Amino acid sequence: MKSAVDTQALIEENQQLHAEMQDLLEQARINQQIMQRHQAFDLRLIGSGEFRDLIETVSLLMPNTFNLEIVTLTLIDHDFDIRRILQDLQIGLDEYPNLLFHVEGSTPLPQDKPTLGAYDLALHKPLFPSYQPASVAVLPLMRHQNPIGCLALGSAHEGRFTGNLATDFIERLASVVAICLENVINNERLKHIGLTDPLTGVNNRRYIEQRMQEEIGRAQRERSALSCLFIDIDHFKRVNDKFGHQSGDDVLREVATRIKKELRLSDSLGRYGGEEFIVLLTQATVHDAARIAERIRASVAQQAILIAGADEALQITVSIGAAAQMPPDRSIPADIARQKLVARADEALYRAKESGRNRVVLAD
Ligand code: GH3
Ligand code: MG
Ligand code: MG
Repeated sequence: MKSAVDTQALIEENQQLHAEMQDLLEQARINQQIMQRHQAFDLRLIGSGEFRDLIETVSLLMPNTFNLEIVTLTLIDHDFDIRRILQDLQIGLDEYPNLLFHVEGSTPLPQDKPTLGAYDLALHKPLFPSYQPASVAVLPLMRHQNPIGCLALGSAHEGRFTGNLATDFIERLASVVAICLENVINNERLKHIGLTDPLTGVNNRRYIEQRMQEEIGRAQRERSALSCLFIDIDHFKRVNDKFGHQSGDDVLREVATRIKKELRLSDSLGRYGGEEFIVLLTQATVHDAARIAERIRASVAQQAILIAGADEALQITVSIGAAAQMPPDRSIPADIARQKLVARADEALYRAKESGRNRVVLAD
């Protein structure tokens, strides 16, 4: 028979074991939760179809999932290709402070292996411009052996990222991010191609109509001014007839470039037809539109256009019809309002042609 002392010891040992079991169970429960969070994160990451989704997943969901203070994404985009596409698709970069672009000629981004360790001002400041973490992990993003950028993880804890930590997990994470990044950039590139005129590189008719509809809706809601210019090259047929179609194409490209130079970032330019362009001017009254139209007219007329293979530079002019969406009547559906606005600008253009070309006429 066991003594009372033995029984007491057994009870205590039992209690001890029970507590340890509880700890293990609690740990298992936490681990399972972490795994579920990681899985949910992976799904979101892989499911990102658009650039916006990916940036939001990386800069907002990732710190949350992995208990980090900050995650930034730096892209290599030395020819501004990605930024141009994003800008054309109206994706504002200032919305995403944790999306950065590597500056050509500055400290090169790490390649091959992740680097982990204490924050180093000289090395890490460009990767974390707005927050100084205690320890960092910098993960190179590679596609087909080429660096495309890096992911920088920042923790407020010094011990979080140290040089002797295993990196398999974050290496896998980096390769998934790199694939997803390439995928969304390709998606945006395709979207962009579908909205761009291949000859001049400005937006095509589909884009400008879509954009007009959105801007008219906005102007109606916010009761703001909106104007439209209809621009047509004068006697363009003669250019083709005299100098050939190739020279005509060169003129179209140069005219598009000169128009674009006179516009603000928020304005849009589209090639509407053969030698016709439409400009959409946001927050612009008919007086603003007249001023900008006159600048465009002058910039085309002032300097003759040099054409490869032609002896002389070509004197080109444009005629412009300008119309403002006034007053922004909410009761008219946006597509009807768009057609009306374009029709009024077109009618003013017709009068500009009638009255001698190389001039700006305002719709009544
Ligand atoms: P107007 O001053 O009245 O506008 O005269 P115009 O000669 O400019 O007008 P018209 O509409 O008669 O001619 C437009 C010409 O634009 C005819 C067409 O061959 C040419 N064109 C249309 N698209 C292209 C293009 O992509 N490249 C070239 N080179 N020519 C084009
Ligand atoms: Mg025409
Ligand atoms: Mg013409």
